[in-house]
Amino acid sequence: MLFFDAHLDLAWNGVDWNRDLKLEVADIREREKALNLKGKARGANTVSYPALRRGGVGLGIATLLARLHRSDQAPGFQVQGFNRYEDMAGAFGSARGQLAYYEALQEEGVLRLISTKGQLAEMARAWNGGVATAETPLGFILSMEGADPIIHPRQVESWWKWGLRVVGPAHYGISTYSHGTATPGGLMPLGPELLSEMRRVGMVLDVTHLADQAFDEALDKYDGPVLASHHNCRALVPDQRQLTDDQIRRLIQRGAVIGAAFDAWMLVPRWVRGKTTVEETGVALRHVADHIDHVCQVAGNCRHAALGTDLDGGFGAEQSPGDIETIADLPKLVVILKSRGYSVADIEQIAHGNWIRFFGEHLPD
Ligand SMILES: [Zn+2]
Repeated sequence: MLFFDAHLDLAWNGVDWNRDLKLEVADIREREKALNLKGKARGANTVSYPALRRGGVGLGIATLLARLHRSDQAPGFQVQGFNRYEDMAGAFGSARGQLAYYEALQEEGVLRLISTKGQLAEMARAWNGGVATAETPLGFILSMEGADPIIHPRQVESWWKWGLRVVGPAHYGISTYSHGTATPGGLMPLGPELLSEMRRVGMVLDVTHLADQAFDEALDKYDGPVLASHHNCRALVPDQRQLTDDQIRRLIQRGAVIGAAFDAWMLVPRWVRGKTTVEETGVALRHVADHIDHVCQVAGNCRHAALGTDLDGGFGAEQSPGDIETIADLPKLVVILKSRGYSVADIEQIAHGNWIRFFGEHLPD
């Protein structure tokens, strides 16, 4: 089974976390232990290029992630040791560096950046036709998680030329353009202009991490293609980070695809980061299946549920489904969905078909 994972922070891991993702996951963990690196997710990562390949994750969305520090951001999100930039020039420089990381891996034949319909069709044929070999690069569409590296809305056009195809204006806290996770509020003053520019050049809007009011304002303002790259259901896990059923319905009306995230905090209720454990909650892939199933039930079909694992999003095995040792364990999800009565055709839609259809419609020629 081919998997399309709509949310991986590969460059953030490669550059900011200084991980050599060409190694096996076990070797990266050993290396971090040998270097005595302390902190969340160190020595416990679950994603590497060999693991993606073994799991059948041939296609996906890879992010640029370089957040701005703001004194008014949600408390608690700057104490994890993750980079926060003091000004937009720093965030811009970091994101451009992350893009250069992808270009270097493309040079080495590990990755290929997908920026057109034709490139997507070619990579989908390679990965889905059973002809992918050990030499076939992993294909990724470029997105930006939190638009702080876009120095001004006028710069959207430059980012488009550099290959960026999807933008999520917000991340945790308040970004330059919007209120995000854990901060109630709407778009910031430059948000509408950012969305206008995105629409003008053909950029897809990712609603993941938008605060509720910002979600409404963004969908009112922006009439182009929308997706939710890594987003679960508030009906199952009550928190503003998840989508309400009304939001899911609104996204479905817009033809969106919603990627199920594998972060334990978004899979089961009452998870407290750094405290709750995988063992005490029993968090597992069956919970991912619950969120997928909920989207399918709201939609009345399997055309909008998909995957956006976020498995390298600043957490590791300590905050992932217990039956995921590495991302190569993704095929276990197929077994679970089958046991719940999903047909192979439906599972193929969820695993890759919905994202390939979406981007086949919305990438440029
Ligand atoms: Zn995220």
